[in-house]
Amino acid sequence: MTAPPQLDVLAIAAHRDDAEQTCGGTLLALHAQHRKTGVLDLTQGEAGTRGTAADRAREAAEAARILHLTWRGALDIPDSRVENSHDNRLKLAAVIRAARPRVVILPYWTGRHPDHYNASTLGYEACFLAGLAKVDTGNSAAPHRPFKIIYASLYADVRPTFVVDITPHIEARHAALLSYRSQYADQQQGGAIFVPADEIRERTFALARHYGLLAGVRYAEPFVQKEVGLVPDLMQLPVQSI
Ligand SMILES: [Zn+2]
Repeated sequence: MTAPPQLDVLAIAAHRDDAEQTCGGTLLALHAQHRKTGVLDLTQGEAGTRGTAADRAREAAEAARILHLTWRGALDIPDSRVENSHDNRLKLAAVIRAARPRVVILPYWTGRHPDHYNASTLGYEACFLAGLAKVDTGNSAAPHRPFKIIYASLYADVRPTFVVDITPHIEARHAALLSYRSQYADQQQGGAIFVPADEIRERTFALARHYGLLAGVRYAEPFVQKEVGLVPDLMQLPVQSI
């Protein structure tokens, strides 16, 4: 894995294709605003029913190109064994120090897949660790703590704190997801547990439409922040009430 350059926003995800599904449109919107974005995948996909880790690496690189990511990397945490251990926290903290993002996007902290909610806690604690001056992360980058941590809540059935309008980017987001041909192209292997390709579009667009409707836009992605919102000007508050 190459060391990341300085980034504005870093999304941390358990699995390759998680970021595409939960915040891919937001990453595209950030790029359109000339922000430098990156994705750190914690695992490489070797435990997946379909395809190999090498297949997933090629697909992730293709998706990164479509999302206009400045950087994408994958750690070597075992697939389906994402654990909030000190070793794993140090691996993440080294990337956070090198990338120095202002904003980190983490998975929501509850969910069905243990890798997702473990990645949430692991990511939060790594952000904390990365700011401690006396912690040695094995690289020479200076301590850094992200200013803002937000949680991508698409997989979780919770009311978002805010949504990001991804209307101009919904097709590109979908194209990035379909880069994972080993997962989403129709095939025999794992047919009982995988969704047919023609249904992926309907499901992902319907979810984006749902979150868009909550805020009066066409398509959106949901996020939760733990802090309260701060409003500089009531006159500029978006989303119509009545
Ligand atoms: Zn996942």
